Amino acid sequence: MSDLMKGKRGLVMGVANHNSIAWGAAKALADQGAEIALTYQGEAFGKRVRPLADKIGSTLVLPCDVEDIATVDKVFDDLREAWGGIDFIVHAIAFSDRNELKGLYAETSRENFTRTMVISCFSFTEIAKRAAALMNNGGSMITMTYGGSTRVMPNYNVMGVAKAALEASVRYLASDYGPRNIRVNAISAGPVRTLAGAGVSDARLMFNYQRRNSPLRSNTTIDQVGGAALYLSSQLSEGVTGEIHYVDAGYNIMSMPDLEELKK
Ligand code: NAD
Repeated sequence: MSDLMKGKRGLVMGVANHNSIAWGAAKALADQGAEIALTYQGEAFGKRVRPLADKIGSTLVLPCDVEDIATVDKVFDDLREAWGGIDFIVHAIAFSDRNELKGLYAETSRENFTRTMVISCFSFTEIAKRAAALMNNGGSMITMTYGGSTRVMPNYNVMGVAKAALEASVRYLASDYGPRNIRVNAISAGPVRTLAGAGVSDARLMFNYQRRNSPLRSNTTIDQVGGAALYLSSQLSEGVTGEIHYVDAGYNIMSMPDLEELKK
C-alpha cells in the first residue's frame, strides 16, 4: 500500500461480488489509503459484499436500491453523520431486462426503456447531486460506461442508448460542478465477465471478438479499471473533467477486424 489516497473518503456503489468492476475500483482506492463506504442492492448481495468490505477495512456498508430514492437519501444521511464530508464517488450501477438485451433495439418496451434509463443513467445524476452537497473541498465523481454508447454493439440495445445519455450527463455534471472543483468523468471499459456483463446475449462471443481485435490483444480486467478509477479519483488527474476515458485494450480505435483474423 502507498498513500496516494491517504486521508480521502469516498463511496463505491455497485459491488455485487468479487467480479464486479466496482470491486476493482474499491480495491485500488483502498490499497492507496482511501477509506471506503460500500453500498449493496438487497440482502442477497449484502451477504457477498460484507466479507469483501472486511478485506478493505470498510465499516460503512449500506443498503441502496436506486429505484427507491429514500434509500439513496439514507446513504448520504449516513455518510454525513459518519464522516461529515466525502472526497469521491464511484457509480458502477446498471440494469436492463435481459429479455431486451438481445434481438432488435426497435423491440424495446416503453417500460424497460424507462427503467433502464432511471437505473443506469439518471441514478448517476441523483447521486451526483447528493454527493456534491457533501464535497466541501472539491472532489471526484466517476461512472462506468461502454462503447455501445457511440457505436452499435449487437444485443446491447437500450443499454447503449442509456450509456449515451449517461456520457452526456457526465459532461453536463462536469460543467455544473467544475466551479466547485468537483470533477466528473466516466470510464468506458471493454467487456468484463460480470453478472451485468453476462446479461447481454452472446456476451462470450463479444468478449472473445474484442480480445482478438483490440490492439493489446487482451480483455479488460477489473484491476485495469481500478487503476483508471484511482487515477481519476486522485490528484494525478486534477486537470481532467468531463472525459470518457477508455480502458478497453484500445478496441475503440479500430475501424475493422484484424486482417489475420479475417483470413482464418
Ligand atoms: P455487476 O453485475 O457486478 O454490477 C452491477 C451492479 O449494479 C450490481 O452491484 C447491482 O446490484 C447494481 N444495480 C443494478 N440495479 C440496481 C439498483 N436498482 N439499485 C442499486 N444497484 C443496482 O456488473 P459490472 O459489469 O461490474 O457493472 C458495473 C458497471 O460497469 C455498470 O454500469 C456496467 O454497465 C458497466 N460496464 C460493464 C462492462 C462489462 O462488460 N461488464 C463494460 C463496460 C461498462
